Amino acid sequence: MDMQVSFLDRLFESGLLIETGVDGLYGRSGQFEDVIAAFERLIDRYGAADGAEAIRFPPGMNRAYFEKSGYMKSFPQLAGTVHSFCGNDHDHLGLLQCMEEGKDWTTEQKATDIALTPAACYPLYPTIAKRGPLPAKGGLFDLQSYCFRHEPSKDPARQQLFRMREYVCMGTEADVTAFRQTWMDRGVEMMKSVGLDVEIDVANDPFFGRAGRLLANNQRDQNLKFELLIPVTSQTNKTACMSFNYHQDAFGTKWGLSLADGSVAHTACVGWGLERIALALFAKHGLDVNIWPENVRRTLWG
Ligand code: ATP
Ligand code: ZN
Ligand code: MG
Repeated sequence: MDMQVSFLDRLFESGLLIETGVDGLYGRSGQFEDVIAAFERLIDRYGAADGAEAIRFPPGMNRAYFEKSGYMKSFPQLAGTVHSFCGNDHDHLGLLQCMEEGKDWTTEQKATDIALTPAACYPLYPTIAKRGPLPAKGGLFDLQSYCFRHEPSKDPARQQLFRMREYVCMGTEADVTAFRQTWMDRGVEMMKSVGLDVEIDVANDPFFGRAGRLLANNQRDQNLKFELLIPVTSQTNKTACMSFNYHQDAFGTKWGLSLADGSVAHTACVGWGLERIALALFAKHGLDVNIWPENVRRTLWG
């Protein structure tokens, strides 16, 4: 056989990822999870002195918040909504018959109050806005959630359900841009400490459609988004394993986040793609953690 075995195939063969029949939807082995847990403890250590408030949301969010966020304006192609059967006995019979005949039974499913979380920070802004004005020192939050994005791919680093760890800062422009710079520096140091080659570059989100191109250009021109890139499946097309986003006062205005002096809060978030980081480590150091360099093992597991 001259067919090249892909990184994804090797991950399946090693059992680190488990096939489900859907591209981008995988099970994870205990070993894979242990790497993510160890890396999250490394993040905890870097962030410990900052005193962020930890909050964990499930991977679904209030659909009303999702609608207000504007996600459907910018990224309709990526969104996921939760639908359920809401009918009576008669409708149920129809549903079963439809399935029996191999027809599309999903058209009768009705939208529930839940949308799948597209980024870990989305449920945070309305939650914090409800508390009233931020305290004088602003707000700093530690989040982690499974996120959904409808972007099926054979690239193991592009999954449909994956975890994002985030820190979110709310405060003055100076506060939140300093926060973002601090984490860019820490991010580089952190990745180096586990033997990964990193590069930081300006980036943009995949805003949908023709109008979206303008938004993407504006985001780049204003340096609103940076990515930390690491080789995972390719040395030339590197993978974004962290992102550093400055939202200016857009979320503050949208959600009514105000500072102690009454001004609108600026916000920034830094996010880690936890599966991508685990994959970067397996790609660099091998699929067996027992043969990883001693210093990397010590950084992760003490
Ligand atoms: P990309 O440009 O690769 O699509 P992104 O800009 O969409 O990434 P963000 O929206 O900034 O990514 O999300 C924060 C982090 O979540 C990314 O830096 C990345 O590490 C991770 N991430 C994003 N999309 C995926 C995905 N489909 N599968 C796994 N991890 C992802
Ligand atoms: Zn975010
Ligand atoms: Mg993307």
